[in-house]
Amino acid sequence: MGLILEHERALGKVSMEDVERFLRKGIAEIKAYAAEKPIEALQVELGLQEIVSMGTNENPLGPSPKAMEAMKRELERVNLYPDAACTALVNRLAGRLEVAEDMIAPGNGADNCITMIGSAFINEGDEVLMADPTFPVYTIAVKIMGGTPVYVSLKNYVHDLNAMQKRVGPRTKLVFVCNPNNPTGSIVEKEELDDFVKKLPPHVLLVLDEAYHDFVEVGATADALDYIKTGYNVISLRTFSKLYGLAGLRIGYALGRRELISALKRVREVFPVSRLAQAAALAALEDDAFKAQVLENNEQGKAFLYEAFEELALPYVPSHTNFIFVDFKTDAGEVAQVLQKRGFLIRPGHGWGGLSFARVTIGTIEQNRKFIDVLKDALNHVQK
Ligand SMILES: *Cc1c(COP(=O)(O)O)cnc(C)c1O
Repeated sequence: MGLILEHERALGKVSMEDVERFLRKGIAEIKAYAAEKPIEALQVELGLQEIVSMGTNENPLGPSPKAMEAMKRELERVNLYPDAACTALVNRLAGRLEVAEDMIAPGNGADNCITMIGSAFINEGDEVLMADPTFPVYTIAVKIMGGTPVYVSLKNYVHDLNAMQKRVGPRTKLVFVCNPNNPTGSIVEKEELDDFVKKLPPHVLLVLDEAYHDFVEVGATADALDYIKTGYNVISLRTFSKLYGLAGLRIGYALGRRELISALKRVREVFPVSRLAQAAALAALEDDAFKAQVLENNEQGKAFLYEAFEELALPYVPSHTNFIFVDFKTDAGEVAQVLQKRGFLIRPGHGWGGLSFARVTIGTIEQNRKFIDVLKDALNHVQK
């Protein structure tokens, strides 16, 4: 009987309740991150020639050309395992950022660094503060470890550091501040963050997610590096997915005091970053012409979209990133549906509570123009 049961189980005939019992505490209530349908599949399904991705903040200009050349050269070595420590990349980053090499831990995307932070620091029952809405990956990483996310609403689309400060208690282990914030594109005031950092008790670690750091005007907000160099319990997260156009490769890094970074290294995968990703990131880092072009396109696109939204009387949050949080003043989910049929993907704000808001990634000049044309139609369609 037991054997038959084992056999049945091997065939996958295990009841859902059985499976739920196998799970670690806390995992049962986690919903798998709702993956988007791949663009390629969507294109076939909708019978479209082209789909423009304006929902996930990728780089509309493609990858850095220098990164592509570096990957081509690296291709013939992918039979060999990558350098586990990403030595060359870490060395170059350390030079650029003027920090020691042991203050940097690359990962399989900044997302992977968030998971490492969870594994290294969060115990069951620990409270982790974060804004609402903010980047959803923090919640997943916290729950996997049995921690409790504690949400503090944004105030006027910006982190309410005062309210967050008040919510710090004896069970607080970690605070995530996404600066600039995804999905709102807003930044915190430097003085406010300075004050917040100084007041954090020593048992609390601050993670500053600076995925959009490269898009922020110098001096407009605090730079986590200043806190790190001063010795505060701060980890910064940065990525090659946005400015450098390497989202599909998965490479980002955590930056912090060496004691904190060494904790991440204990829990990370053995080979967290592929050969192609390391080669591409190293080359992209030096591709100043590409970076300048991306920033220029972003500024132009931002100005164009701001103006178009103003003409359409659609309020938006001023952005310090490559996306804009805009209020369609009608069901953004429905607008997104209509846009999708016409080949434009955006991210409606349902998951963020604001039903009429959406996050729109800034595209190329041509993409932005077409997007606004299609948006006008979509808004007419939905409002009728
Ligand atoms: C895009 C993004 C990341 C993660 O980037 P990776 O692609 O995993 O490197 C992290 N945080 C925020 C806020 C982001 O928007």
